[in-house]
Amino acid sequence: MKKDIHPKFFPKAETTCACGAKYNIGSTKEVINVEICAVCHPFYTGNDKVLDTAGRVEKFKARKEAGSKKKAK
Ligand SMILES: [Zn+2]
Repeated sequence: MKKDIHPKFFPKAETTCACGAKYNIGSTKEVINVEICAVCHPFYTGNDKVLDTAGRVEKFKARKEAGSKKKAK
């Protein structure tokens, strides 16, 4: 067996999620940051995510209106 070809393994790597949940899992990285995890993902929580956060529907309606005005000319 070759020596020193394996990365260092951390059996209790500290994993932190954006929602605040913390895990200790085995990894070759000592610290891991994730945006989504089993606690906060909508698939597990059953909650729908609000997708229209920046008024995208309103923007689309305005664009559609502007488009129909152009056609009328
Ligand atoms: Zn999370």
